[in-house]
Amino acid sequence: MTAVSKNIAICPDCGSEVRLKKPPYLGQLITCHHCDSVLEVINRSPLELDWAEAAWDDDVSSNFDAGRNGRRRNGR
Ligand SMILES: [Zn+2]
Repeated sequence: MTAVSKNIAICPDCGSEVRLKKPPYLGQLITCHHCDSVLEVINRSPLELDWAEAAWDDDVSSNFDAGRNGRRRNGR
């Protein structure tokens, strides 16, 4: 397989093609529409994805917490 597809990567979880509308950048987070895995761009050429849950979880859970608390405080 030598075909060079621009913005298509393979989901490491379900093996589906994940198409990107825009050129990816390293560290970009992508959600697979087939299995809902959160993936990170680890290589641009060839385009490679890897699970991003560890780093993502850390980041987002603290963001979520801040967001939730902020909302509650603002709301009440
Ligand atoms: Zn998938």
